[in-house]
Amino acid sequence: MRIILLGPPGAGKGTQAKFIAQKLAIPQISTGDILRENVKNNTELGKKAKEFINKGTLVPDTIMIELVKNRVKEEDCKNGYILDGFPRTIAQAEGLEKALGEEKIDAVLFVNVSDVVIIERLSLRRICKNCGAIYHLKYNPPQKDGECDKCGGELYQRDDDKEETIKNRLKVYREQTEPLVDYYRKKDILFEIDGEKSVEEVNKEISEILNKFLQN
Ligand code: ADP
Ligand code: AMP
Repeated sequence: MRIILLGPPGAGKGTQAKFIAQKLAIPQISTGDILRENVKNNTELGKKAKEFINKGTLVPDTIMIELVKNRVKEEDCKNGYILDGFPRTIAQAEGLEKALGEEKIDAVLFVNVSDVVIIERLSLRRICKNCGAIYHLKYNPPQKDGECDKCGGELYQRDDDKEETIKNRLKVYREQTEPLVDYYRKKDILFEIDGEKSVEEVNKEISEILNKFLQN
């Protein structure tokens, strides 16, 4: 299955992507994670992306389309993949379609949450430096302060999870990414999920949608 996870920052895309990846044995492709890795390693891409990420604006479409086009051609994507954080503009969606040719996206899972919830989710989000596990200080806290339950790695707060940047990311989402909801609805592949429920409930809703595909 080729799946897109769509939704505002903090909707729970990464949290759910990890679970879907395990259930379907397909890779999670998080463009945000790929960019942050490049920033960390100070690659050419990382140098270009850094200022956009820190401002909470989008990295240019041409760069992003090229990146994803190459990534989905890799061997581990032959049975499908989950795109987490891509596409984020209509131009990216069109670029993806062009790159895929005959291959089609099966489902777009639109995880929706309100602005108030987003700010609370992002300001208390913590991530493992080592394995990328996602925590929330209130809703999904680690057992030991500052330490990953899964691998013992150090937990950190993303630089762009600060209140001012969050507000900007939200604005960018509304203006540039939200139009994709209608775009995919018109193609009849959009599934809307209430992301304000608990992680387990959202999980269950997504599972039910995926099971219908697996039965066909
Ligand atoms: P996204 O990838 O969409 O930006 P994340 O998966 O990183 O979102 O989740 C954002 C924050 O919200 C994290 O701290 C995560 O632990 C928390 N979170 C995710 N889903 C839920 C949920 N259903 N209820 C409460 N908190 C959640
Ligand atoms: P995320 O981890 O998905 O929240 O993304 C973090 C940041 O990376 C965003 O605020 C953007 O600056 C950048 N980014 C990630 N994915 C994309 C994309 N598809 N298009 C443009 N910028 C992106």
